[in-house]
Amino acid sequence: MKFRKILFVLLILQVLFTVGMKFLSYIGDDSPELQTHILKYFTQSDIEKGIEYGRRGFFVRIFSQIIDFIILGLFVFTSLANRIENYLEKITNNRYYAVVVLFFLVFSLIEFILSIPFQFYFGYILEHQFGFSKMTFIEWVIYTAKSALVGVGFGIVIALAAAFTLKTFQKTWKYLLPIGSLSLSLIFSILYPILITPIFYDYKPIEEGTLKTKIVALCETAKIQVEDVYVINESKYSGHTNAYFTGWGNNRKIFLYDTLIKNHTEEEVISVLGHEIGHWTHNHQLTSILGSTIEIFLLCLILGFFFEFVKKGNEFILKEIYSPSSLPLLFLVISILGTFTSPIWNTINRYQEIQADKEALILTNDKKSFIDTEIKMARDNKSRLNPHPWVVNLYYSHPKTIDRILMAEDFK
Ligand SMILES: [Zn+2]
Repeated sequence: MKFRKILFVLLILQVLFTVGMKFLSYIGDDSPELQTHILKYFTQSDIEKGIEYGRRGFFVRIFSQIIDFIILGLFVFTSLANRIENYLEKITNNRYYAVVVLFFLVFSLIEFILSIPFQFYFGYILEHQFGFSKMTFIEWVIYTAKSALVGVGFGIVIALAAAFTLKTFQKTWKYLLPIGSLSLSLIFSILYPILITPIFYDYKPIEEGTLKTKIVALCETAKIQVEDVYVINESKYSGHTNAYFTGWGNNRKIFLYDTLIKNHTEEEVISVLGHEIGHWTHNHQLTSILGSTIEIFLLCLILGFFFEFVKKGNEFILKEIYSPSSLPLLFLVISILGTFTSPIWNTINRYQEIQADKEALILTNDKKSFIDTEIKMARDNKSRLNPHPWVVNLYYSHPKTIDRILMAEDFK
């Protein structure tokens, strides 16, 4: 069979697999045993609300996913990418970096225009229907525009850096790209709160009081240095709750959503922070940055080999690996490989979440607040309480709520 056909069949299989998994996630897990466990902590209505929220816009979601695959397919299996590149070369007098930027903009614009109806339906209409979003239509437009601009800005920087490396270092790019991405992630994790967070949120240092005293005490127990604790105004956008850490060493900062402080007791906030500290003390951020560096390195080796192989076969109109028109084909390969690698990453993630949960229990010695937090968060976010086990195994980055609660119950 021709290689082109193999790739096409793989794309179709990926579409079928994705749609199949969506159906499993629709069905969920209605085993009586799970039901009994859940009903010890939740009501039947909680379960139903989770099902309803999880199933929202089911057919629209499948439709949107299929459109994405069709666009990718069109770019890979027709001469569209080449024609766009040739046209851009003509209007820029063959200026390579200008072509890279314009090609990226055209690609992003097509993506953006096609995704707008879906973003509006899921991010605005349904989020209001389920009582999450507090944004007016204008606020939503501003938020969406800001996100798109930030995305395009970063995309251009990364595209130019990758294009430069691929074109200038035609023998060593496989080693340089992973190093580049490692440096970018390290820099980005420090710059994010300084550059990106202020675009979307106002944040201020936490007020003096009992909560702050408890946070300082918790950090002392955990023997970690924290530069500052900030509260950010998520309530402007939604009722979703969260907390996270940024930075390294003595530069570490804690960010708490104001929604978390409003909806939870101080002990529960401490439990959430204990979990975040758990990620720190087990070096999860560092592990995942290093892990993805290794993954990118392997991916570069595969893509380099693959590109030469396909180019020799003459089944696709390919110029050079650094030509923008080669991107869609490389994307397709990355996306097919991702079907296999993302379940591995999710399994590692779930393992790390359990580690962090255990650390929270050790640090706070407060099972009750841990379990109450899990219950409240699942309720507030209308989490699916009975997801299908395959969906959890392949796609969930966190263990399902009831597993986290049962782990805490058994923890000594
Ligand atoms: Zn976590």
